[in-house]
Amino acid sequence: MQKVQWKPIRNTFLPYARQWIDDADIQAVTDVLQSDYLTTGPKIKEFEQAIAQFVGAKYAVSFANGTAALHGACFAAGIHKGDEVICTPMTFAASSNCVLYCGGNPVFADIDSRTYNMDPAEIEKKITARTKAIIPVDYTGQPAQLDEIMALARKHHLTVIEDGAHSLGSHYKGKKVGSISDMTMFSFHPVKQITSGEGGMITTNEEAYYEKLLQFRSHGITRDAKYLEKCDGPWYYEMQFLGYNYRMTDIQAVLGISQLSKIEKFIDARKQIVERYNEAFQAIPELTVPYQHPDTDSSWHLYILRLKTDKINADRREIFEALRAQNIGVNVHYLPVYLHPYYRELGYERGLCPNAEKHYDEIITLPLFPKMTEQDVRDVIQAVTGTISYLAK
Ligand SMILES: *Cc1c(COP(=O)(O)O)cnc(C)c1O
Repeated sequence: MQKVQWKPIRNTFLPYARQWIDDADIQAVTDVLQSDYLTTGPKIKEFEQAIAQFVGAKYAVSFANGTAALHGACFAAGIHKGDEVICTPMTFAASSNCVLYCGGNPVFADIDSRTYNMDPAEIEKKITARTKAIIPVDYTGQPAQLDEIMALARKHHLTVIEDGAHSLGSHYKGKKVGSISDMTMFSFHPVKQITSGEGGMITTNEEAYYEKLLQFRSHGITRDAKYLEKCDGPWYYEMQFLGYNYRMTDIQAVLGISQLSKIEKFIDARKQIVERYNEAFQAIPELTVPYQHPDTDSSWHLYILRLKTDKINADRREIFEALRAQNIGVNVHYLPVYLHPYYRELGYERGLCPNAEKHYDEIITLPLFPKMTEQDVRDVIQAVTGTISYLAK
């Protein structure tokens, strides 16, 4: 078959994700810059309370970013050297790096090939006497099978740390993500549902986790009289374990607060684009549109098309490059984590999670963000349908 020279179908490159910052956001940040507190000020608690209220959790603790928040959650869960933590391979590396930070060993359980989330039956097979926790990821925004995972955790006395970096605003059986697991992490990186520049949060209903997380993100220091070994005077504080400076600033927090007030609008816009994509692609025999489990209602961080490569005269790479050449900013989420060189050096090998490896070979992430225009959406649909119909067998 003749190789085609794909030409741009639009003048500007359309990215796969982009934040939406408006004048109110800028004003809120400016106000904080002119205030007394750039960090450790009142906006921190205000953002934490707003997130806790939004997801329906008792407590929320903010962090400098989502990765730091995951580190804090693993620390609070008591992950130590030699402990095993069950992780999904189909995620960003931070979801299991946090286990390594604590000296633990990530154990990868394969994904369900319909939802692309960690399969509870695979999790159960991986539980041993050394297992301490499970870290499910709500991949693309679709919540993992949380009831099954929580039941396994209760049966085997494990902690569930949900990576909700994709799923702020998603629901599982009518409940908001962030109110269900022992601890849930959210990220406010600019590609996520709302942004604070960099930023992260853990929500929990357990007071003990809450207190540990607060102390961990500030050097392991406490001033709380009920925890001090002694008290020399009003200046006195103690560093009781090795924590970090993982604090969010008030500048980040106020941006987060302002963004959170618009989250329903952002999610509605994402859902409308997803509907358009599904309508355009679901009848194309060479493509699989994202399956949604009836227990879930996704806030749609990512829209991932799976290619039926046996029906196409091209592999994923050629299709990816064809779409990029047309100025459509497609992406791939993700290389299975254990195939990264750092993990392979730790001893993880190809073949560990066959469903995840096959998934990786066949996926393309399409642009999806609330500020996309009607023309942007049409460009993506035109490029994808044109490319696939040309390359179909
Ligand atoms: C974005 C992301 C993180 C990390 O969040 P940061 O705020 O960028 O540190 C962790 N897990 C997943 C699945 C993510 O997408």
